[in-house]
Amino acid sequence: MVQRAQRILVRKYGGTSLADAESIRRAALQSVEAKRQGWRVVVVVSACGDSTDLLMERAKQLASDPDRRELDALLSSGEQASAALLSMAIVDLGQPAISLTGAQCGIITNDVHCNARILEVRPGRILRELEEGRIVVATGFQGLSLAGEVTTLGRGGSDTSAVALAAALKAEDCQILTDVEGVYSGDPRKLPQARRLSILDSREMQELSQHGAQVLKGEAVEFAADNRVSLTVQSSASAEPGTRIDSEGTESSAEIFRPRHPPVAGVAGRHDLLEIRISDWACLNAELLSQLRGYDLVFSEWSDGGDSLRLFISTQEIPDPPALASELERRFRGRLAAADGFGAVSVVGFGVGSRPHALLRATLALGRCEIPIRAAFASRGAISFVVAVSHVDEGMAALHRRFVEEGDDSESSAEGRIPNPEQAELKGASGRPVGVGAESDV
Ligand code: ASP
Ligand code: MG
Repeated sequence: MVQRAQRILVRKYGGTSLADAESIRRAALQSVEAKRQGWRVVVVVSACGDSTDLLMERAKQLASDPDRRELDALLSSGEQASAALLSMAIVDLGQPAISLTGAQCGIITNDVHCNARILEVRPGRILRELEEGRIVVATGFQGLSLAGEVTTLGRGGSDTSAVALAAALKAEDCQILTDVEGVYSGDPRKLPQARRLSILDSREMQELSQHGAQVLKGEAVEFAADNRVSLTVQSSASAEPGTRIDSEGTESSAEIFRPRHPPVAGVAGRHDLLEIRISDWACLNAELLSQLRGYDLVFSEWSDGGDSLRLFISTQEIPDPPALASELERRFRGRLAAADGFGAVSVVGFGVGSRPHALLRATLALGRCEIPIRAAFASRGAISFVVAVSHVDEGMAALHRRFVEEGDDSESSAEGRIPNPEQAELKGASGRPVGVGAESDV
């Protein structure tokens, strides 16, 4: 039986919770308090405030397509600064602490710069420091490739670092501390009506993250579920319980069975899609493959009866998306078209994408706001619409109103409320009426 004194707690602070000296001091006090309560404490930090964005901005001023290795060298410095600052603040409170980089923490990744995957964690150094009675402050978002290069884990990657460390250290709990009080049915900064979810299934959390909820990175949720890491999202500024992410095998899911009604967990939106339409297979060469290596594919579809392929990739790790789009068009002239400026809005919940009524209602909700739909995708856990970036927030609000505030009512009772699509004047991106399959096959 593990003694209480040996139990390890991993707490991750997001950038907004470390934005200034006052918030770093608060994080230091909370870390010391956790240590006093008998935990061995590992704190994982993001870069302070929006410093990663600022570093990215600076890179863009000096290079149109910055070398990805150097970009990692640059971006990883943000977390090193915040870790050192927090460690100093803890020591100043009289508690021994040490900051460690990703490499010192034994986080080994593949060699995909700017979007690396963790291959393994060798936690020996952290365990020794904890043994010595120190609080360990680990830099999130970074690792070391097998070739010995510094890598970063993709935007929001400190969450992944925290969960990976929690898994490797067999931590009792992994707490993600942020500037909101947990996970909501929609982004609470944009949708004041959004409701906090006290418990959320990890599969739904993964869908919300993958469709743009920034509160937690999807890969971190996946790691937590795979490794049975107990995961919560809570506010760094209040003692509210936050949201527990439940996955099979964790304590609470073994005790409680909870079919949820209504089945929609929430809505999510993202603003970061680049569309690539490939119409000539001759451009599927090594050059294109290496150009796109390391970027996340969000949606894809065959269109024109299988004659062309449309990819929507995330631009989160791309310093200058319009420059990439024109570079791709220049290199593959006439064979490929690329355009940035897209985003997506999604409804997330178990089985929501396998109900035609839900898909039609979502389409109508966007249509009523005259939001042109570029493409639509349905999977079991989500219904998503690609729209112009300028329509994402409005689209999210419309879907939230329809599915959360009004309730995802039973199919029969809602039937009478669906207006005739012809009367509803729905227009797609091309001006054609929007319906299932009008712009794309769903
Ligand atoms: N600082 C990095 C970012 O802004 C990593 C993180 O915050 O998790 O994406
Ligand atoms: Mg962040």
